[in-house]
Amino acid sequence: MPSSQVTIVVPVFNEAAGLPNFAQQLRAAIDSIRGITWTILFVDDGSGDETRAAIRALNAADGRFQGLALSRNFGKETAIAAGLRHAKGDAVILMDGDLEHPPEVIASFVENWRAGYKIVFGKRIDKETQSPLRRFYSKAFHGLFSAIARPRIPAGAVDFLLMDRQAVDAMNQLGERTRFSKGLYAWIGFRSTTVPFVVGDRSAGQSSWRFRSLARFAVDGIVSFSSVPLKVWSYLGLVISAFAILYAAAFMIRTLIFGADVPGFPTLVVSIMVFSGVQLISLGVLGEYVARIYDEVKGRPLFLVEETIGGAPEQQTEPRVRRIA
Ligand code: UDP
Ligand code: MG
Repeated sequence: MPSSQVTIVVPVFNEAAGLPNFAQQLRAAIDSIRGITWTILFVDDGSGDETRAAIRALNAADGRFQGLALSRNFGKETAIAAGLRHAKGDAVILMDGDLEHPPEVIASFVENWRAGYKIVFGKRIDKETQSPLRRFYSKAFHGLFSAIARPRIPAGAVDFLLMDRQAVDAMNQLGERTRFSKGLYAWIGFRSTTVPFVVGDRSAGQSSWRFRSLARFAVDGIVSFSSVPLKVWSYLGLVISAFAILYAAAFMIRTLIFGADVPGFPTLVVSIMVFSGVQLISLGVLGEYVARIYDEVKGRPLFLVEETIGGAPEQQTEPRVRRIA
């Protein structure tokens, strides 16, 4: 069997404390997989700690550990995009650098890939490590997303997966700035399967997600894959207008029969408040979409690479000027 090249892309942000341990466990797990040669590509997402030095040290000891340092913190989604652009393997595996994604699962990823699947998703079957609030939050988000957005994302999907070269090339063609990877994996299609895994304990450091960034992430996901929030206002407007016409008719008839009186002041105030609220919300939603259009139109590169650690010097694969068509 000819050996195939597998690149493991690991976005890391302030993971210096856990990195050596992570690297050791990952190497142990993948060294035992037959018939592959591997490269591990860390994407240092503008860490403020010694992460980059840790990657250099790993590279000095074993040239198969390589790195890509972005010029600042671009966020995990963008770090993933950078890693995918630079990964050269016949298959690319994406995982977190904190051991929450157990390296032992990679063997079954590779098996499924050999069996012909183009994408192998890791599906977490245990989230006890996360707070009840966070679990509730991801459930609620998933419910909302599958109700109004297409394509569906598999439940429990995380950024732990294997992609065939074909799928990686497809991902690299998606030039959008607001990157909601879970949706993108689903969007590109290809024959896929899932491998369940139990979430491991974070090896060191702490999760860098705050509630606000999670909320931001959720809005990004929905806005990127659904135009329902944009359209719902016209239906709401229709219902409200119909109601207003009926109310006007009823009011006219009542005045004709019983004569005019002057009650209805609370109705007036309440309806003004409710409808200005609705209008402001709809403007805000429009703003979410317009802001993203603005972001895309500026056409800035998605990320900037400051340094590559190990491996052949990389050419800049990010097109400088993107065609907006
Ligand atoms: N990460 C990153 N850039 C960021 C935030 C996180 O590359 O701005 C990396 C982080 O180092 C880790 C992975 O993304 O390898 C998952 O992050 P984290 O563990 O903080 O998130 P959680 O597991 O809580 O979803
Ligand atoms: Mg984590």
